[in-house]
Formats: sequence, C-alpha cells, structure tokens
Amino acid sequence: MQADAVGRGADIADVVVVGLGAIGSSAAWRLAARGLDVVGIDQHEPGHPWGGSHGRSRLFRVACLEHPGLTPIARRARDLWRELESLSGEELLLETGGIMIGAPGSRIIEGTLAAAREHGLPVEQLDAAAIGERLPALARLDPGDVAVWDPEAGVLRPEAAIVAAVDAARAAGARIRTGERVLGIEVDDVGDAGHAAVTVRLERGDVRARRVVVAAGPWLSQLTDLPVRPHRVVMSWFGAREGHDASIDRIPVFIRSVPGTAEWVWGHGALSGDLAKVGPEFDGPFDEDDPDAIDREIHPGDTERISELVAAAFPDLEPAPADLTTCIMAHTPDGQFVVGPTDASGRVVVAGGCSGHSFKHAAALGELAAQFATDEAPFADAAFLDPRRFAQAATGEPVARGHVHLA
Ligand SMILES: Cc1cc2nc3c(=O)[nH]c(=O)nc-3n(C[C@H](O)[C@H](O)[C@H](O)COP(=O)(O)OP(=O)(O)OC[C@H]3O[C@@H](n4cnc5c(N)ncnc54)[C@H](O)[C@@H]3O)c2cc1C
Repeated sequence: MQADAVGRGADIADVVVVGLGAIGSSAAWRLAARGLDVVGIDQHEPGHPWGGSHGRSRLFRVACLEHPGLTPIARRARDLWRELESLSGEELLLETGGIMIGAPGSRIIEGTLAAAREHGLPVEQLDAAAIGERLPALARLDPGDVAVWDPEAGVLRPEAAIVAAVDAARAAGARIRTGERVLGIEVDDVGDAGHAAVTVRLERGDVRARRVVVAAGPWLSQLTDLPVRPHRVVMSWFGAREGHDASIDRIPVFIRSVPGTAEWVWGHGALSGDLAKVGPEFDGPFDEDDPDAIDREIHPGDTERISELVAAAFPDLEPAPADLTTCIMAHTPDGQFVVGPTDASGRVVVAGGCSGHSFKHAAALGELAAQFATDEAPFADAAFLDPRRFAQAATGEPVARGHVHLA
C-alpha cells in the first residue's frame, strides 16, 4: 500500500496498531510479516505490569470449554507461539497437560467435552477413582465429580511472549513507538478504503493510515464504543505445606470445582523456582474500574476467599498466599472476545475483550486482526467474535449473557 496526499503533515503508515499487549504485539508482528508499513504504539514498555497480561503465567488449553470455535484458534496460536520461540530463543509455552474437574453435566465438563467432540481431540475422561490414582494432589472432590484430561494444555510465559512478538514485529520492519498514549482515533467519512483515512492522535505527532487495529485491552472502551468493562482482580501464588510437593508435576494445569462450594478455581503447580498459582473464577457482578486508577494495594478482603478455596481443594498448599499482585480483567457482556472490523468500511479493526481467557489465543487473535485489516479471509470462523454483535445492545435487543471468566 502507498500513502496518499490525504495524509500530508502526519506520519503515514499502512496500518497503525494501538496497544502492544498480548494481542496487539502479535497483530503488529503478523502485519509487518506481510510486508506492510506498520506503526505499533503503546503507552508503556512491552511486558509491562499495568494492563491485563502480566503475572508470570497464563493457562493454555485446546479443549476450550468457553466455545468449541476457540479450538482452531488455540491451535493456530500454538503454532505462532512456537514460531516466536524459535525467533526469540525463549521458551514461551510449556505443555504439561491439564485437568478439568467438576460434576457430570457441569459447564466445566460439558464445555470441555463439547470442544473435544467437535474437533476430535484426544482428551481422556476420568472418574473419581482415576483422579485419585493419577493426581492425588487434586483428589479432594465432591461425590460424583469427574474430570477431563486435555493433553495439549500447558502454561504460557506472558511477559516474555509479548516482548518476543514486539521484537519480531520490529525485526519485520514495524516502527515501534512506546511511552506514547493514543489520545483518539478519527476516521474520515469520505473516500474509499484505499486511502489513508484514519488519523491516530498522539501527543508527539499524529499518524495517518489506511487501517487501524485497536488492541487496547482494558482501555478498549476509551477508544471505541465497545462494551468492554475493566475490573480490578488480584492474582495469588501459594507455597507448599511443610513436607509437601506443590510442583507442576503433581498439580498440572487445572480448572476445577471446589468441594463443598459452587465455585471454581484455575491455576497450576509451581514451575521451577516459583510458586503454585490459584485464582478464582471471576463470575461477577463486577464494578467497572478506571484502568488508569486501579487500586494497586492489597487489602485483607482480597485474600480471604481464595485462601478458603485453596484450603478446601488443595491438601498440599499453604492456604495463605505467598505472593500477590493486582491485574486488570476486561469483560464483554457475553464473556467472549472481539476481533474484526467495527463497520463495513473495515478501517477500524478491534481485537480484545479479554474476558479472562484470551491470552492463550492472543498470537492467533493478532493473526486474525491482521487478516481483517488486509481483507484476507480469516483462517478460522470468527463470526462468534464479531464486535458488531454488541450493536444489538444499542437497539435495546437482548444481548446474551454468559459466564464471564475462565483462564
Ligand atoms: C488475572 C488474570 C488471569 C488470566 N488468566 C488467563 C489464562 O490463564 N489464560 C488465558 O488464556 N487468558 C487469561 N487471562 C486473560 C488474558 O491475560 C488477557 O485477556 C490478555 O492478556 C489481554 O490482552 P490484550 O492484548 O487484550 O490487553 P493488554 O495485554 O492489557 O494490552 C493492551 C495494551 O494497550 C495499551 N494501551 C491501551 N490504551 C492505550 C492508549 N490509549 N495508547 C497507547 N497504548 C494503549 C496498554 O498499555 C497495553 O499494553 C487472564 C487475565 C487476568 C486479568
């Protein structure tokens, strides 16, 4: 693509990517890898702890209980994470296998099996006796609980993955601008999609482009009309009880119901030199927080419930957290991400809507954003992620509500 006269006076690019977090870093890489002139912008440095993508690990699963349509996206993401590993020389995805535990017919079990059935995944179903035999550290169960083993599950290193994607984007020719905040995005209402029709407003000089990919994570609703609600959450890590082993060999990636409660937790055992991680399912209702004014202090109320859940479910873990940090989750009304153009002109492509389970897919969501921004056919059916589905909300028609978070 060539810039045109419309953009004189501003920096010109084919595509601007706003936000270089989990998804935007990958979008910038995938666009630059196509030979486009890409400008990638972030208010912070890659791998920073102020958005939704820090905290040393993220779960990776292929039998995605949130929607069977996510399985091909997870698999494409895995290929891209592996490509980034070879470009960066860093280990980004550790495949450990993962277990989903719950009552027969529960969303954890049924959702996982639905994805497995639709895609012929090599999952294994376990009864309580088999869980006890194979994974005694996870065998505190409600009567009748069952499990599904996803051999393709694992753990991602989020900060290193983002740095690797930004480095790959830069190596492919993207111009990376960090420490700069996008103040607004303006789209010309005339002209065809061929010319530089989008202005990205910045303090230190605007950029004009044919297309913009907005991957602003918890800030998405500041730059678009999308109903993506940011919410403060706390991540917690736990040590092993005296004489017990809480390593990932004994506690693989899990999503599990907690015996005696209606709640779920997610996490994994300790990776070498680290602690086990356990988090609650964030099922709302949520306060909407300003992502620029998140309370970063830890308060006693932040840890009480997760300690009770850990005590109820994990015989090998010390229930008092050994480490804590705050993070921002961003929820959509139906708990599913958004990726795609916001209207028929295709000039603004959005990618985000976290809902607590998008990191594993981020490399492939970046690829989808690149495909939408270049009018290529998407590699997978992404209709269920179309951001325009929320336009219904504006017309007063009901918008489906679902469970919001998993990992
Ligand atoms: C506690 C927690 C646990 C999770 N666990 C899992 C898990 O186990 N597995 C999983 O798959 N997913 C998980 N997720 C979800 C996943 O981590 C997030 O969905 C994902 O990381 C969000 O990526 P993003 O690119 O949308 O946002 P971010 O990575 O936050 O990136 C947005 C970027 O945009 C930048 N930005 C925003 N506005 C501007 C602006 N105006 N100008 C310039 N830059 C801007 C920000 O600085 C930021 O770098 C979890 C989320 C949380 C919070």
